Amino acid sequence: MSSTATEVLVVGGGQAGIAMSEHLGNHGVPHIVLERDRVAERWRTSRWDSLVANGPAWHDRFPNLEFPCAPDAFPTKEEVAAYLAEYAEKINAPIRTGVEVISVTKNIGEPGFRAATSEGTIDARYVVAATGPFQKPVIPAVVPDAARIHQIHSSAYCNPRQLPEGAVLVIGAGSSGVQIADELRGSGREVYLAVSPHDRPPRRYRGRDFVWWLGVLNKWEAATPPQGAEHVTIAVSGARGGHTVDFRNLAADGITLVGTAESYEDGKIRFAPDLKQNIAQGDANYLSLLQEADAYIERNGLDLPEEPGAHHLQPDPECVTDPLLELDLAEAGVTSIVWATGFTQDYSWLKVDAFDEKGRPQHRRGISSEPGVFFLGLPWQSRRGSSFIWGVWHDAGFLADHIMIRRSYRAYNSAGAAATV
Ligand SMILES: Cc1cc2nc3c(=O)[nH]c(=O)nc-3n(C[C@H](O)[C@H](O)[C@H](O)COP(=O)(O)OP(=O)(O)OC[C@H]3O[C@@H](n4cnc5c(N)ncnc54)[C@H](O)[C@@H]3O)c2cc1C
Repeated sequence: MSSTATEVLVVGGGQAGIAMSEHLGNHGVPHIVLERDRVAERWRTSRWDSLVANGPAWHDRFPNLEFPCAPDAFPTKEEVAAYLAEYAEKINAPIRTGVEVISVTKNIGEPGFRAATSEGTIDARYVVAATGPFQKPVIPAVVPDAARIHQIHSSAYCNPRQLPEGAVLVIGAGSSGVQIADELRGSGREVYLAVSPHDRPPRRYRGRDFVWWLGVLNKWEAATPPQGAEHVTIAVSGARGGHTVDFRNLAADGITLVGTAESYEDGKIRFAPDLKQNIAQGDANYLSLLQEADAYIERNGLDLPEEPGAHHLQPDPECVTDPLLELDLAEAGVTSIVWATGFTQDYSWLKVDAFDEKGRPQHRRGISSEPGVFFLGLPWQSRRGSSFIWGVWHDAGFLADHIMIRRSYRAYNSAGAAATV
């Protein structure tokens, strides 16, 4: 057990911790990054085997290093982990791996914070919580354990072989749910997919990936989710070279679409009558992006090939027009459920005054209500792009600048007294 002091303690060695380290290093600020496992651990062990990045290599990266693959390719999860590890080495990030932060408390009567870690204590003037946007898997309490059906969260899903023989119900239709359902169907499984509300931008339109369209249309910069929603699920896929998620295609491949899973009783699961509406809202989101892209092209006189076919949607499949509202799991041969229902956060280690009454980080652009404590990598931290590889880099820059400003206040000492900001 050791005792160390540093200026900034960064907790978490994923993309957020690495980005923070780069900006602090550029400012010459002494810091330590603690990671309880390995650098980029979540890309190594919390993603399914076949996962590729949702965004192309030219876009989903830090500005100062390119992926070795083609710019329009979608890096595999191993390539993303290797990229982040290489980046950490390139910038000489002072990361200590295998060290868990157990608690961080505010020093009483003196500036700074004390971290209790699995390897001793660290005193730091500032603390950056970079422990990820997606920390604790959420499984809604719909199907009780007593139902004796194999239930896992998407973060524990690896591949179809891992599930018991039989049909699978995938719940949640964001990028994880649709990709997992697609993979399971491709492996020959009978698949039911519970389709929740989602956005589904076109993968590519008029020769440009949707990440480009969201960029030029300023949509990555959106400061809050629309209509006060906490989060918007985006159904996109980089699998098989990238393709637009259209639920009609999934149905044509043999997946039975159902509405949001609502309740369970006596071996039967009930679905809300919202399937048609959820699909229609996703379609509206898709079509509105095409229209905005067309308008942008026209206003700016861009020479991009027309793609009128993209505006024509196929008719709804039967499972949408005449949806199943109840499924007897045993009768349908369903032996497992994959919950692709998102994540929540866990800051139980951070024992400071930086949370609201619901335990959510209380902050503005990552600057928390506890002076000296910062969050990084939160969904919508400053904009829609905040939890993505490229977005977190800019938020880290903002926080590093802010730390420099705080340091300048600390340096101010006209009366000769020790300043304690
Ligand atoms: C399925 C999936 C696919 C995604 N695909 C993309 C994509 O294609 N492109 C993109 O830009 N983004 C993608 N994202 C979003 C985002 O890039 C990832 O979630 C990314 O892992 C977030 O990085 P992070 O550094 O903020 O957090 P994390 O990667 O979660 O890193 C946090 C680290 O903190 C460590 N930690 C936690 N608690 C402690 C503690 N107490 N002490 C020490 N260490 C601790 C963890 O071990 C972890 O390594 C995806 C997310 C998911 C879930």
